[in-house]
Amino acid sequence: MDTPHQLYEINDMVKADCGDCKGCFSCCQGMGESILLDPYDVHLLKTHLHKTLEELLESHLELNISEGMILPNLKMQGKEETCGFLDGEKRCSIHAFRPGLCRLFPLGRQYQDNRLFYFMLKDACAKENRSKVKVKKWLGVPEIKDYQEFLILWHDFRRDFAQAGDGPGEEMVKSRNLFVLNQMYGKDFETSEFFGEFAQRVAEVRKGLG
Ligand code: SF4
Ligand code: SF4
Repeated sequence: MDTPHQLYEINDMVKADCGDCKGCFSCCQGMGESILLDPYDVHLLKTHLHKTLEELLESHLELNISEGMILPNLKMQGKEETCGFLDGEKRCSIHAFRPGLCRLFPLGRQYQDNRLFYFMLKDACAKENRSKVKVKKWLGVPEIKDYQEFLILWHDFRRDFAQAGDGPGEEMVKSRNLFVLNQMYGKDFETSEFFGEFAQRVAEVRKGLG
């Protein structure tokens, strides 16, 4: 039986700080379809890169099905299977607005009783001798409380969507998925009010899905 991992909250110290990665880019390579993007990630990419979802899908992202839902993920590209956002020096070219899963690594997230916990992913980071850092500093998201509430809301939405998705036939499943993809990722949010607007959007989409 697996040993339960130690759980942390945002004000806890955790041995995650890999000292700026220094030449290592192993978690930006060969990650398959696993670096899923949430609506906030795509909102940041669209805003900073001045691109639409369609344009991002033509370059750095792709769509796949994860737990019954069509979601965008970072596309691994070329012979080396690297993320397209790595620059010539193998550094992240979008570091300031990189996706949430990139910020999190080598931590994982766990949702429990409407709360969010963090844990060290076993054998995930190639760097030895990592230093301790506060979880919230590691994530580096300014509006951390709003961000965490957003993550829980999004997690709950995905769970409910997956649970409701079994019945109505292939065409209906596809059209429900495309509706959600367009509302949550395609349609723009106002930059300054993302988190508030996202909560409203979730309520509207839930209504639209019936
Ligand atoms: S977005 Fe940046 S940190 Fe994330 S996988 Fe791509 S290059 Fe690496
Ligand atoms: S494996 Fe660790 S050191 Fe290497 S890029 Fe990822 S987080 Fe940085």
